[in-house]
Amino acid sequence: MKQSPADKQAFQKMIPGVITAAGFLGDDDRSPERIIEEDGIFFDELRLDFDAVSDKLEELQHRGEAGLGEPITVGKLLVQSGDARGMLPCPWSDGFFHKNAVSVRPADVPIESCVEGEDMLIYSELSVHMLRVHHFCQGRGSPFRLEPALIKRLLF
Ligand SMILES: [Zn+2]
Repeated sequence: MKQSPADKQAFQKMIPGVITAAGFLGDDDRSPERIIEEDGIFFDELRLDFDAVSDKLEELQHRGEAGLGEPITVGKLLVQSGDARGMLPCPWSDGFFHKNAVSVRPADVPIESCVEGEDMLIYSELSVHMLRVHHFCQGRGSPFRLEPALIKRLLF
């Protein structure tokens, strides 16, 4: 796959310290275009749709806001929506998004035994935008990675 100049610029902004301290790639040693390609295959295999998943994550965020920072139960999930603190630009330079953090985990697993990325999804407005528009779930090991298998297990 030939990398477009826009993608090349975006990928350069994903390394730690450019947009966020941690960056967007975690400890994944794959290139961002490879991550996008492989997660696209997982989405297909799991019969997930980028728009449907993004809608669901936004809906959970809004329902979680009723908890005013405390976790609230939504169906079989616990959702906690933190305050937005400032804005972050998308690496693709197509907008600014609230720097918030929403966590979603199964209501029947105690927080102490929740493993981030295995039982718990954490995302921001920017994460959902990158998922919806750029089909980018972020690298493995990124705290905000939207792991396709976990999305499937928790949300559908
Ligand atoms: Zn964007």
